Amino acid sequence: MGATKNTTGTTASAEAVKQITYLAGALKAPRITEAASRLAEQARDAGWTHEDYLAAVLEREVSARNASGAQLRIRAAGFAAVKTLEDFDFGAQPAVRHQVGALASGAFLTEARNVVLLGPPGTGKTHLGTALGVAAARHGHRVLFATATDWVTRLTDAHRAGRLPQELTRLRRYALIIVDEVGYLPFEPDAANLFFQLVSSRYEHASLILTSNLPFSGWGGVFGDQAVAAAMIDRIVHHADVLTLKGASYRLRGRGIDSLPSTRTTTDQGES
Ligand code: ADP
Ligand code: MG
Repeated sequence: MGATKNTTGTTASAEAVKQITYLAGALKAPRITEAASRLAEQARDAGWTHEDYLAAVLEREVSARNASGAQLRIRAAGFAAVKTLEDFDFGAQPAVRHQVGALASGAFLTEARNVVLLGPPGTGKTHLGTALGVAAARHGHRVLFATATDWVTRLTDAHRAGRLPQELTRLRRYALIIVDEVGYLPFEPDAANLFFQLVSSRYEHASLILTSNLPFSGWGGVFGDQAVAAAMIDRIVHHADVLTLKGASYRLRGRGIDSLPSTRTTTDQGES
C-alpha cells in the first residue's frame, strides 16, 4: 500500500515536510515536525485515516507540553530535593498508605483542603510533603515549597515593603503552598502574626501542606501565644487530613541506632 506514487509522492512530501517545519515553528510547536514525519511512516504502513494521523501528531505535542509544563512547575516550586510517591517505602509507614493514596489524585487542592504531616524526625514528613507537591505539579497545579522560617522571612520582607496584602494575593494564585518544619524554630511574635495572616488568607481558598515534629499541643510554644496558635490550628484543621508518621528515623535504618535523643520538642508521646 502506498508504494506506487514513488517519484511524485517523494517530491510532494519533501515540500510538505518543509512546510510542516515552517508551520510548526510558527505555532511554537517544533516537536510537531518530528512527530509528523515519524508518524507519517507508521500511518502509511498501518493505513491510518487522515484524522487518526492528525490526532496522533497532536496528541504527542500535547503530552510533551504537559510533561515539560510539569517539569517547569516542579523546578519553580523550590523543593529542597525532588522526592516522589513512587520513591516512598510505605512498608515503613503502613498506617498512612491509604490516606496518601487518596491525596495523590490532587482532589484535595480543588477543595482547598490542607494536609498536616506530623511525626518525629526522619519519618518522611518532608519526603511526603514534597511528593504530594510533585504530584500536584504533575496535575497542573502551581506549587511553592519553603521552610516555615523561609516563609516568615518572605512575609516579613513583604510587610516591611508595605506590600503584604499584594503578596498574600499573589500567593493565593498558587494552589499549593508547602510549609516545612513548623516548630523547628520558635517564631518571634511579629512572625507568628504574619504566619497567621498567611493561613487566614488561604483558608477555604487554597491549600497548605504543613509538616511538624510537634503535636498541635506544642504549637503554642512555637507561636509564643496559645490564642494565636489555637486560632491558626482551627483554620488549618477545619478542612484537613492529618497524617501522623511514626517510628524510628528512616535515615538511621540499619545503622544500629534505634532512636534519636528525645527532646521536649520532638515527641508526640506522653500526651495521651
Ligand atoms: P522528616 O522530614 O520527617 O524529618 P524526611 O522526609 O526528610 O524526614 O526523610 C529523611 C530521609 O529519609 C529523606 O532522604 C527521605 O527521602 C528518606 N525517607 C524517609 N522515609 C522514607 C520512606 N518511608 N521511604 C523512602 N525514603 C524515606
Ligand atoms: Mg523534614
